[in-house]
Amino acid sequence: MGEMNRRRLLESMGIVAVGSTLPMPDFSGQLKSPEGSGKMRLDLSEFQPKSMLHVPETKVSRSKYPVIDIHTHLSIRAKSVHGVGIGEKMEFLATPESVLPVMDRKNIKIMVNLTGGSGKGLEEAVQRFQQPHPDRFLTFTEPSWDHSNQPDYGKFQADEIEHAHETGARGLKVLKTLGLYLRENVSEGRLVKIDDPRFDSMWDACGSLGMPVAIHVSDPEAFFLPTDRFNERFEELNNHPDWSFHGRDFPSNAEIMEARNRVFARHPKTQFIALHVGNDAENLPYVSECMDRFSNMSVELGARVGELGRQSRMSRKFFEKYQDRIIFGTDAVPNGADTPQQIFIDQLYEIYYRFLETEDEYFDYAPAPVPPQGRWRIYGIGLPDEILKKVYYQNAARLLKLQMKI
Ligand SMILES: [Zn+2]
Repeated sequence: MGEMNRRRLLESMGIVAVGSTLPMPDFSGQLKSPEGSGKMRLDLSEFQPKSMLHVPETKVSRSKYPVIDIHTHLSIRAKSVHGVGIGEKMEFLATPESVLPVMDRKNIKIMVNLTGGSGKGLEEAVQRFQQPHPDRFLTFTEPSWDHSNQPDYGKFQADEIEHAHETGARGLKVLKTLGLYLRENVSEGRLVKIDDPRFDSMWDACGSLGMPVAIHVSDPEAFFLPTDRFNERFEELNNHPDWSFHGRDFPSNAEIMEARNRVFARHPKTQFIALHVGNDAENLPYVSECMDRFSNMSVELGARVGELGRQSRMSRKFFEKYQDRIIFGTDAVPNGADTPQQIFIDQLYEIYYRFLETEDEYFDYAPAPVPPQGRWRIYGIGLPDEILKKVYYQNAARLLKLQMKI
């Protein structure tokens, strides 16, 4: 996100005072017509149309039932090389004290910090959040990518998973690193495939220890297309050029999905949570096909209400059919102003709740002045209570083996 957009976003959230030292564009709101044409020109980045629809607007301050947010990032690996997290040192993005008030206001019973790292870093992540508040925070571990080119990696990684389990990790998180960044020599060489056999012992260890694998593979289809005037996510890709996987030696979206599916098929005793609606929320027929093929596959919603909410009738049917395998998650990041669809603030949760609980029409899917993932707005799917309970906490509690007293 450019400095200007970030500033506007922060201003809209009341974080930056208007009139502080950053330069403002000379944009008075008054457009000038180029000589004699009678038509005006407007830069797309300045266009912030306000909807003229008069329709019900429901404010959902608290979820109807308690929530487990299975997809949050309270810590990240401190070092990364070409998209590959390296080493055990962690950077902490929040303290329990800074996030608990939002959790309490929004009815979030448990936050799962997926990027808990490994080794000493994982120990620290557990100590900071899970240990003092075992009923509010859970931690997942991550693979040790920097060992992935060692001959004993399979055994090493399986042992690491076991240690992580002893440390208190409740599952394994795999970032899109696998398939898009990890290379034969960690950050160099050819890309390592998701179904590379060196990971088989890792997937199996998770299965035998009852640790679900939260896996992010690939990205929206538009990210594999040129960033040009035909790309409906032009502004998003233009704001985050490193999210484009067009060209170079990247595999196609379909190749990545199929490699992932081979992993699901080969490890039927391991539970996989395919994050971001299996990263294909704009192709629910394909996600459904995968769900039908793999009974060990669930999906999570993080940062995809924008994609689900633009096809509310299709989404509603998807939720009805797979109500036992859809898990609430946001991909929330404290201080994540660069990605408003993930920013850990009250308004983010209100949008998710509104999408799931109401039939409101044409509302913003992110707390931002311009829809950050594409210029459209969304429609609620008004789920019945029984499905809401499953999506908000029951499905997650079952996978995480939690006894929730509600
Ligand atoms: Zn995430």
